[in-house]
Amino acid sequence: MMFKLKVYDTATSSYKTVDLNFWEWLKLKLHGYVYWKSVNNLPFYIVCCEKHGYFTDYPSGWDEEFWCPFCLRELKKKLKEEGWIRDEGFSCR
Ligand SMILES: [Zn+2]
Repeated sequence: MMFKLKVYDTATSSYKTVDLNFWEWLKLKLHGYVYWKSVNNLPFYIVCCEKHGYFTDYPSGWDEEFWCPFCLRELKKKLKEEGWIRDEGFSCR
């Protein structure tokens, strides 16, 4: 039995259909993520965002977290609106 998922692939910035077997699907449901495959020597996972659905990502950052690209986009927009980040650049020195 295979489960077909519509997944946003962050490596190619496009949606694709991914087939999972029952155990992969179950892990995804239990943990919110499941190992997918190796892309450019990085371990890519299929991750579920409760707001935006499934996407692919590899663990990043010091705490090895997954970041939904759509949530990041929304966060960036919000930070821009609130004046925390600027389009025109910023001097760090
Ligand atoms: Zn999201």
